[in-house]
Amino acid sequence: MHFELTQEQLMYQRAVREFCEGEIKPYAAQVEAQGDLRWEAIRKMPQLGLTGLQVPEEYGGAGLDTICASIAIEELGRVCGSTGLSISAHNCLACAPSVRWGTPEQKARFLPRLTSGEVLGALALTEPNAGSDLLSAQTSAVLEDGCYVINGTKAWITNARHAPVIITLVRTDKAAGARGFTHLLVETDREGLTIHPPERKMGLKGSSTHMISYDGVRVPVENVLGEVGRGFYQTMETLDAGRISIGALSVGIAQGAFEEAVKYAKQRVAFGKPISEHQAIQWMIADAALEIEAARLMVYRAAWLKDQGKPFTKEAAMAKLFASEVAERVCFNAIQIHGSYGYSAEFPVERMYRDQRLMSIGEGTSQIQRIVIARRVLQEMSS
Ligand SMILES: Cc1cc2nc3c(=O)[nH]c(=O)nc-3n(C[C@H](O)[C@H](O)[C@H](O)COP(=O)(O)OP(=O)(O)OC[C@H]3O[C@@H](n4cnc5c(N)ncnc54)[C@H](O)[C@@H]3O)c2cc1C
Repeated sequence: MHFELTQEQLMYQRAVREFCEGEIKPYAAQVEAQGDLRWEAIRKMPQLGLTGLQVPEEYGGAGLDTICASIAIEELGRVCGSTGLSISAHNCLACAPSVRWGTPEQKARFLPRLTSGEVLGALALTEPNAGSDLLSAQTSAVLEDGCYVINGTKAWITNARHAPVIITLVRTDKAAGARGFTHLLVETDREGLTIHPPERKMGLKGSSTHMISYDGVRVPVENVLGEVGRGFYQTMETLDAGRISIGALSVGIAQGAFEEAVKYAKQRVAFGKPISEHQAIQWMIADAALEIEAARLMVYRAAWLKDQGKPFTKEAAMAKLFASEVAERVCFNAIQIHGSYGYSAEFPVERMYRDQRLMSIGEGTSQIQRIVIARRVLQEMSS
C-alpha cells in the first residue's frame, strides 16, 4: 500500500497549482462579479491538459489517470469554485462519456474542439420536474426519417452557453422504463434549441447554469452516443466518475477556505495575542485539517479504484458525500474564524462558503449518495 503521490503526480500538482495561483486565484472575485469564466485562462488550460484531463492525446487531451484528474480539480477548487465546477463538468460530464461511448467518427468530430480551450462541454440530464428521480424525465426523441426529433426541457445545465454540443438524455421508448433512455449528441446550433439566460444562483456565479428548450430539434441517428436504450445506465456510470470529481472539488474549496482561515488566525489579535493561540480557534483548525485529510484520502481511493478497473460506485458516493459535508463545515468555521470580516464580500471565505453549498446537491444529493451507499452495503452484506 502506498500513501504517496508518484513523482509525476507531484510534478503535475505543482504545475497546476502554479497555474492556478497566477491565472485563476487573482481573478476569482472578478469571475464571480462578471458571471463568466476567465476565458484568457481557459484558453491556456490545454497546455496542462485541464480541458481534456482523461481524453487520449490523439484528440488533444492529456490522457491522465483519475488521481491526476482529481488533483487538478482540487487545485482549481482551492482558488475558484466556479472555474472548478465548469472544468469538472466539462471533463466528467461531456468529455468522459464521449471518450467512453463515442464512435471513432464522433470522437474525431467532437473531441478536438472540446479539448481546445475555446469551448466547454455539457451534459443535460436534469429537468424542471426530474432531478434525483431521472427515470421520470420526460424529454422525448422520436425517430422520423433517419432523425431523432427531440421535444422537452432540461434544467440547471452547466456550461450550456459555452458548448458546441450538449449530450442530452432523452426518452426513446416510453414503455421501456430504465431501458427506454438514450444519449444524443445535440449540436447547439440546431434549429429549435434554445439556451435560456443563466440562472441567478447563490454561488458559483462564474459557472453559468441554464435551462434548455428542445422544440422539435432534429439530430441524425449518427448522433446517438453509445447504445439506444442504454442512456440511463450510461448516465449512472458517468455520474459515478463525476462524483469523484465533485469530491475533489469539495476538498479543494475546503482547502482554500482552511488556508485563508489559518492565515487570518495568525494575524488577528484578540485579548493580547493572535487568535490562533486561543484553544477554541485551534480546535477548529485541527478539525478542518483532520477532515480535509480524510476527505482527500477518500477521493484518492475512489480514483485509484477506478484506475485499477475495480468497482468504485460505493467509494465514489462515499467520497462525494463526505467531502461535500466536510467543505460545508470547514467553510462555516473559516467564516467563524474571520468573525465579521468572514461575512464580508471583501474576504474570499464568504464566496467559498456560498460556492461549496452546491457540492451536496449537484451530481446526486447527499440523500441520494446515502441511498447508493446503503444499497451497495446491503448487497455486499447479504452475499
Ligand atoms: C449549479 C448547478 C449545476 C448543475 N449542473 C447540472 C448539469 O450540468 N447537468 C444536469 O443534468 N444537472 C445539473 N444540475 C442539477 C442537479 O444535478 C440536480 O439539481 C440534483 O441532482 C438534484 O435534483 P433536484 O434539484 O431535482 O432535486 P430533487 O430530486 O427534487 O430533490 C429534492 C430533495 O428531495 C430529496 N430526495 C429526492 N429523492 C429522494 C429519495 N428517494 N429519498 C430521500 N430524499 C430524496 C433530495 O435529496 C433533495 O433534498 C445542476 C444543479 C445546480 C444547482
